[in-house]
Amino acid sequence: MAEFKNLYAQANPFVRAHFDCLNCGGKLWEYAIQDRMVCEDCRELFDSSEIFDESIAHE
Ligand SMILES: [Zn+2]
Repeated sequence: MAEFKNLYAQANPFVRAHFDCLNCGGKLWEYAIQDRMVCEDCRELFDSSEIFDESIAHE
């Protein structure tokens, strides 16, 4: 019998992202499900793809 892993059972809906806010440089937290990130300081919401593009452009 196949073993199923429920990813959502273990995953915290908020994951500390390894990115800084594009606005204020604060910590970004990732919504794992919505593919969004939110800043803990200014509460700005970003699309994850937006953050990825930005961080690649700066490397
Ligand atoms: Zn911010």
